Amino acid sequence: MSRNEVKDLLGQARVTPKKSLGQNFCCDPQLIVALARDADPQPDELVLEIGTGTGALTRELSKRVKRLISVEIDSGLYKLVSEIFKDDDTVRLIHADVLKTKNKLNPVVTDAIDEEMQKEGINGLRVIANLPYAITTPVVIQLMEYGAKIRGMTILIQKEAAERFVSRSGTKSYGSVSVLLAQWMRGRILRSVPSEVFFPRPKVQSAVLSLEAIEPEERPSPELYATLRPMVRVLFNSRRKTLNKASKIAAKCDPNLAKLHEAISACELDGSVRVEDLEPDEFRVLAAELINLRDRS
Ligand code: SAM
Repeated sequence: MSRNEVKDLLGQARVTPKKSLGQNFCCDPQLIVALARDADPQPDELVLEIGTGTGALTRELSKRVKRLISVEIDSGLYKLVSEIFKDDDTVRLIHADVLKTKNKLNPVVTDAIDEEMQKEGINGLRVIANLPYAITTPVVIQLMEYGAKIRGMTILIQKEAAERFVSRSGTKSYGSVSVLLAQWMRGRILRSVPSEVFFPRPKVQSAVLSLEAIEPEERPSPELYATLRPMVRVLFNSRRKTLNKASKIAAKCDPNLAKLHEAISACELDGSVRVEDLEPDEFRVLAAELINLRDRS
C-alpha cells in the first residue's frame, strides 16, 4: 500500500493518526511482503496481528495463512477494514484493545485465540505485527507468558525496544525484559527500518525483530517463573550494584526475597558481580535456589 493509498483510506475512515495509539502506518509494500516472508507462517499456525490499521499487512498475511486474527482498537479503522475483508473467510477481525490492563491480555482476544486453536489442523500460534510503540513491551511480555502454543513472533517495533529485548549481559540496554524474554524465546533483529516508510513519520528508527520459542522443556516451570519474574524486576532496580548489595535492598522491598542473600552463596554465585553482568541462566539458578531455601524453612 503506497503513501497515497494509506492517506486515501484514512480519509475515507475519517481517521487522523493518533500518536497515543502508535498510528504510524506502513507505506512500503516491499517491507510488508518482507515482514510476511520473514515470519514464514506455517500451514498449521494461527496468526495473530495486533493493530490492523488500514489492513496492508492483514491483506498480505491473508494470502499466506489458513487462519488470521487481527485486532484493532480504533473504531474508524475497524469499520473500514471490516468492509475490505467482509468476504474473506481467512480473516477474523476483532474490535478491541489487545490489553485489558498492562499485565493482562484482553480476554476477548484470548478467547478468540483459544477458540481458533481448537480448530482442526491448527497447532500453533504466531504473532506477526507492526506493533503500536506504546504497548510493545507489555504486549510481548503478556504474549510470551500467555501459553505454550506460541511458536514465535515477527514484529516491527521501535529499534531501541528491539535492542532491549535481545541485548546481552553487561550492555546498557540489558534489563529485566531481556532476562525474562530469554527464558522463553531466542531473539534476533532481522532488519533495520527507516522512519520514512511510515505515515506519519515517527521520530525514531524501527526494526524487525524475530522471536522463536525455545523448547518447552527448556522453559521455566510456572512456579520458577513466578519467583524469577519479581526477583529480576526488583534486582534490576539496583542494576549497577553488586549482587550482594542488591539482594539486601531487594529483601527490604519484598518479603519473598528475604533469603536472596543466602541463596547467592548457596548456589555459589559471585556476589561481587554487578546485577547487570549476570547471565539470564544465572538469574534462573538463583530463583531456583531461593525456592529451595523457602521450601526448607
Ligand atoms: N498494521 C498497520 C500497518 O502496518 O500499517 C498499522 C500499524 S500501526 C503501527 C498500529 C495500529 O495498532 C494502529 O492501527 C492502532 O490504531 C492500533 N492499536 C494501537 N493500540 C492498540 C491496542 N491497544 N489494541 C489494538 N490495536 C491497537
